[in-house]
Amino acid sequence: MALGKAFAAGLNAFTPKVVEVAANTSSGNPGFAITGLADTALREARDRVRPAIVNSGKKFPELKVVVALAPANMPKTGPGYDLAMAVAIILANKEVSGEKAATTVFLGELGLDGAIRPVRGVLPCLLEARRAGFARAVVPTGNAAEAGLVSDIEINAADTLDQVCRWLDGDLALDSAPAQVEDADQSVPDLADVVGQAPARRALEIAAAGMHHVLMTGPPGIGKTMLARRLPGILPSLAGEESLEVTAIHSIAGTLPRSRPLIVEPPFIAPHHSVSVTALLGGGTGIAGPGAVSLAHRGVLFLDECAEMGAKALDALRQPLEEGEVRVSRRDGVATYPARIQLVLAANPCPCAPAHDVDCVCSVVARRRYLGRLSGPLMDRIDIRVRMNPPGNTALLTESGESSAAVRGRVVAARSAAVDRWSGHGWRSNAEVPGTVLRGEFRLAPAAMRPVELFLRDGRVTARGADRALRLSWTLADLRGAELPVEDDVAQALLFRDRGGVA
Ligand SMILES: [Zn+2]
Repeated sequence: MALGKAFAAGLNAFTPKVVEVAANTSSGNPGFAITGLADTALREARDRVRPAIVNSGKKFPELKVVVALAPANMPKTGPGYDLAMAVAIILANKEVSGEKAATTVFLGELGLDGAIRPVRGVLPCLLEARRAGFARAVVPTGNAAEAGLVSDIEINAADTLDQVCRWLDGDLALDSAPAQVEDADQSVPDLADVVGQAPARRALEIAAAGMHHVLMTGPPGIGKTMLARRLPGILPSLAGEESLEVTAIHSIAGTLPRSRPLIVEPPFIAPHHSVSVTALLGGGTGIAGPGAVSLAHRGVLFLDECAEMGAKALDALRQPLEEGEVRVSRRDGVATYPARIQLVLAANPCPCAPAHDVDCVCSVVARRRYLGRLSGPLMDRIDIRVRMNPPGNTALLTESGESSAAVRGRVVAARSAAVDRWSGHGWRSNAEVPGTVLRGEFRLAPAAMRPVELFLRDGRVTARGADRALRLSWTLADLRGAELPVEDDVAQALLFRDRGGVA
């Protein structure tokens, strides 16, 4: 009877954990069993680990082999434990030196020929390994750049199981992680490309400054998508911790670019309107898949033609919008994923969606019902509604587009003013401030409140609409560099209340 031990790390939904992999060989009927809540993909590791060991020039014990994964009560999924299992078995067979193995975390899927394939979730797993006190990690070369994002842990990138064995014996040095290229992603298109649409551009700037959700309505081809895609370019870049947080989510989803894995710009995620609730919120079986709301964490979730979306999917957005995270029911309990997003909705004004409103053939009822699908609690969270119209010829000639960099400068200044004001209260942006506070502790001077009171008296705005206007007026003041909103800010903010054509 012999025992070999190695360490791996895996994810339980969004939570990474170091896993001890112990291989025990004993006399009895030769066989290979894996214990410790392994899923189907992991149990298939038997079919990979055995040939990988043999094809790397090592012996697979002709004994009863039991590999136990601990903690036993953590559900384990996917092929990421392959490498640690192979190392543990080879150690049990005493074919390599075990000295380094005790302080190393091994990550990687094995091919039948002993090749080590990249796996998901390397970044969060290594952050956890470092926290647990591990000095070094062996990772697939394909994940080396991502692994290199974690400082203070020695990274060894390997292509084959044979290399790992020679490294354990001290006969081979493995490459560390390649140097990171941290230049900003150039792929976000620039606002300078957008001609005309001054009100919508302004709305986007205000949205970015106050982190408000936006609804844009207008005929097809007017540039709703073009503008929405430019929103990340006027948002502040992600700071250190935020950047790692976002990168970890995309690591788990398997959507990181291999060569330049650190995400420093806010993500832009645009699922189709036929998206399922699972794809939107996350979940599913196997490796916990983050949904669109989590992939858009600290960035933009853009839903084009949102009036075509199912009521179920639209309703499902409420909880993440309210809480900044999403709870997904899974076979083994409830998983929580981060989901602090800026929502941009776009819709045609009616089902027939002509280029010019006068050509609409829809009945009044059909028109009202179309955007009416969006009303209710979800719309209460949308502070800005902007109606886009075809630009006049003069606009095309005279309005030149300002660059994203110029707009971003104003956005960053406004954001920091808001952070200074609200941080003591636990909010980070104007969009998070509740109406009761805007009407209470932070009530504006009577002169500034006058436009709201007039609109309320005349029934031109609902109480909720009035709260939204007050919230926006703070962002308008921040963009002006002013201490407090004045009457004109509030009056302007009221104009954004229902231009989308929904209540
Ligand atoms: Zn129509």
